Amino acid sequence: MNTPQLPIEGSCLCGSVHVRVTEQPLLTLACHCNDCQKLCASAYSLTAMFPAEGFSVTGELVTEGLRTEQREHNFCAKCLNFIFTRIKGADTRVNLRTSVLDDLTWFEPFVELMTEEKLSWSSVPAVHSFARFPETIEVLGALMVDYSKR
Ligand SMILES: [Zn+2]
Ligand SMILES: [Zn+2]
Repeated sequence: MNTPQLPIEGSCLCGSVHVRVTEQPLLTLACHCNDCQKLCASAYSLTAMFPAEGFSVTGELVTEGLRTEQREHNFCAKCLNFIFTRIKGADTRVNLRTSVLDDLTWFEPFVELMTEEKLSWSSVPAVHSFARFPETIEVLGALMVDYSKR
């Protein structure tokens, strides 16, 4: 698997929101859940998880779409492109939607989640599969270690 050239940059569909990442990804994921299918108008969502301190964003964002106590999904205020998610209790990490990145040649999902809601014809070349989510922070940590050795 390739590692991305830093900084990693990207923008939304209309170009108003720009993202920049100065650290290597912690983990790459595909999620097959029904919510991700709706959010991304696709069979699954693609995410690259980064350290929050290496992530910066400019441009106006809205967070109203499916905002919950736990999850804050950030969209471009103009074109409503889905950009990134912050999860409460996991403030040291940012989940970036890979579709906004300028260069995706390095990206491949290492882990797939929620395969119990996966469409029958849909498949991704993930190394680790979960019927739902990793149950504990220890399992997630082990995945990150495994990913860093790829
Ligand atoms: Zn936009
Ligand atoms: Zn999902």
